[in-house]
Amino acid sequence: MIVSKFGGTSVGTFDAMQRSAKIVASDPDRRLIVISATSGTTNDLVALSASQLDSTQREELLGSIEKRHLAIIEQCKEEEKLRDAFYTEFSGLREHLDFVGRDKRWKDALYAFGELMSTRIFVEVLRENGVDAKWLDARNVMKTDSTFGNAEPILASIKKKADKHIQVGKTYLTQGFIGSDVFGNTTTLGRGGSDFSASLFAETVGADTLEIWTDVAGVFTTDPRIVPDAFPINEITFDEAAELSVFGGKVLHPATLKPAMRAGVNVRVASSSDPENPGTYIVKDAEKKPPIRAISLRKDQTLLTVNSLEMLHQHGFLAHLFKVLAEHKISVDLVSTSEVSVALTLDTAVNAANKVELNEDVLEELGRFAEVIVEEELALIALIGNDLQKTSGIGGPLFTALEEYNVRLICHGASPNNLCFLVEQKQAEDIVRMLHGKFITE
Ligand code: ADP
Ligand code: ASP
Ligand code: MG
Repeated sequence: MIVSKFGGTSVGTFDAMQRSAKIVASDPDRRLIVISATSGTTNDLVALSASQLDSTQREELLGSIEKRHLAIIEQCKEEEKLRDAFYTEFSGLREHLDFVGRDKRWKDALYAFGELMSTRIFVEVLRENGVDAKWLDARNVMKTDSTFGNAEPILASIKKKADKHIQVGKTYLTQGFIGSDVFGNTTTLGRGGSDFSASLFAETVGADTLEIWTDVAGVFTTDPRIVPDAFPINEITFDEAAELSVFGGKVLHPATLKPAMRAGVNVRVASSSDPENPGTYIVKDAEKKPPIRAISLRKDQTLLTVNSLEMLHQHGFLAHLFKVLAEHKISVDLVSTSEVSVALTLDTAVNAANKVELNEDVLEELGRFAEVIVEEELALIALIGNDLQKTSGIGGPLFTALEEYNVRLICHGASPNNLCFLVEQKQAEDIVRMLHGKFITE
């Protein structure tokens, strides 16, 4: 069995939907199809959730969502039937906007309309291409906790629900990104979460393969939008691909590979507009394991430097510092320490998996025992590869190449698969281009 996930651009227009439906139709083993909202729709829904919108702005956003979906529906054979199905969801969306709520729970229920609308249409496009898929409401299976905006899946419940709602031998179309908590409230898995949904479904149904169909032909050596010379990687290990996605490689949601790794599901990343191209296979053990395979970039990093002279030769400083951060639910990414100070990075990107709210309370609390310096507009660059901690001859050329740039923090040694450092955001893309030219060879 293959679980196939199609991202926003792969279902964003009628032609894209047709191409994706043909991919599904070409292999009867593709029996669980997971799709995202049509491209641009989740962004529109996020914009609609802003409290300061006036009615003109609201109607503009709703109009763009409606137009995008109608443009697809108008090219389908069953236009009338589809209009009805679409307007059922679209009216639901309008009604939802009239609720007062506007808290995180209300937002998740709002964002879910993107995937609900796209699947209502794609199920028909599949049918017109000879695939008789059952429309499955992901919320009946994808059970999560109640962390709205970034919900944590509850595996045991998902397994139980899948047994009830997914029958062997049948074909299903369902939504990525959305789930529901024990009370039945709609939740979401964080931006870009459809990849994660698909991997969880693949684990749950015991699929052999998980396919991630997107707008690029696989996992590239770096973001091809930043470096035009970047090229697709034929085969990469789970460990490397997981590091790449955590360190900013947007092609996969950071949590995607965990369920697939746990369940031994093979993963393929490929382009829905070039399906003959094999793309990238993510495997347990790759044939080639170069020390530097790829480079990733994660923007919007904040560096927190915490200094405390009182801590000289004292124990418990780090424990105290991390306790404060943990109490405020701030997750730390990188850490570098000296005797009396600690530097750590926090991910403040709007669509980060754990967006950090560095508020006055935290700073005040840390200020009671240490001097705190906050630096923003930084970016994290990671070299991704194999046995980096054991390979000699990387540091020299790397730091020579970085000579002209100010490197604020370096992390090396914790993971065999990455070496990363923090630079000024405005220089980051130039640095990635320069390093790609120097260190990545085909
Ligand atoms: P989808 O809507 O299919 O989920 P995304 O936009 O989320 O697609 O992810 C695909 C995009 O990820 C690509 O268009 C590319 O710009 C970006 N990207 C960033 N890093 C990489 C990388 N290392 N390899 C491939 N794509 C990458
Ligand atoms: N539609 C959601 C988003 O745009 C989920 C996804 O595309 O993976 O974030
Ligand atoms: Mg994505």
